[in-house]
Amino acid sequence: MDKFEQLIHDVLDMSESDQKKAIASYKDSCICQTFATYNKCASDVNEKLFCGNGKSVDCITELRECECPTCPLAQSLDVGVINNTYC
Ligand code: SF4
Ligand code: SF4
Repeated sequence: MDKFEQLIHDVLDMSESDQKKAIASYKDSCICQTFATYNKCASDVNEKLFCGNGKSVDCITELRECECPTCPLAQSLDVGVINNTYC
């Protein structure tokens, strides 16, 4: 199991309230909002952490740039370096 899978596993093992806190904390670390692809719709509903949550539900449809490989959270978990553009 790699570091990212372990993190997902750990979060799923938490109580519901701890899961919410952990996800909020990881969302704070997500830097998607600083790049051109991120749009007002995504901002309005606080869509973030696409690497863990999956694709944008219906906000982000046009890719302009993906900087996931530079994301500190991604780097600490070895995600985003090869596979990115999660939204
Ligand atoms: S890897 Fe991308 S989607 Fe995941 S937290 Fe970082 S910037 Fe956000
Ligand atoms: S997942 Fe990548 S492409 Fe999408 S908003 Fe985040 S940094 Fe940009």
